[in-house]
Amino acid sequence: MDAATQALFREDAYLSTAEGTVTGINERGGMVLDRTNFYATSGGQPGDTGFFERADGSRIAIAGTITGQTKDEVVHLPAPDAARPEIGETLVLHIDWARRYKLMRMHTACHLLSVVCPYPITGAAVGEDESRVDFDLPDASVTKEGLTAEMMALVTANHPIFTQWIGEDELAANPGLVKSKNVRPPAGSGRIRLVCIGAEASVDSQPCGGTHVSETQEVGEIHIGKIEKKGRENRRFRIRFGALPT
Ligand SMILES: [Zn+2]
Repeated sequence: MDAATQALFREDAYLSTAEGTVTGINERGGMVLDRTNFYATSGGQPGDTGFFERADGSRIAIAGTITGQTKDEVVHLPAPDAARPEIGETLVLHIDWARRYKLMRMHTACHLLSVVCPYPITGAAVGEDESRVDFDLPDASVTKEGLTAEMMALVTANHPIFTQWIGEDELAANPGLVKSKNVRPPAGSGRIRLVCIGAEASVDSQPCGGTHVSETQEVGEIHIGKIEKKGRENRRFRIRFGALPT
């Protein structure tokens, strides 16, 4: 089970359903397919949940999605009492789209925060109700009101979001593209995926393998719910949906 899975979500984040064929099942029931629209946990974004539909219409509930032995292998984890498919069986793959769409909006919101708060990122976690981004930011000159207004200006400007692949040498020539302090994009793969915001990436571009909405307006109303001090030089920002509570 080391065959690469064709990652359909990478080229089209809006594929809520797709078709795939089972190529392997591991000892814990984790299913590998030839292709999938299910995002595997990585880069702070949780993997997809949902269900696989069999030819007879019955369902196999999927509780989570992770990467396998290699980053290119996607393993779909069945719910505890779910049925097991056969190797070679073709299934219709249904993402829990309401959940994934919230994760897409939130992931894009995290990128917007990194634009209006341009400090090194030390950690991030995308969630369906709340996301957090940790910055190496010793002074607390930023406010949740100010950052919320700046993020919402980017949302309402409705900038396009698109992906672009560049070579490793190009990334090496533009070190400013990498905003994470501790996390380096994978070396050795030759190609780096950039998530770009704005026409010709005028707002932002950074290496990211996650799924994003296609224009900033889709993020909707968001706000910074909390700014916490985490150690001497770290601050944790929480992004939530809805208007800033008054
Ligand atoms: Zn990202």
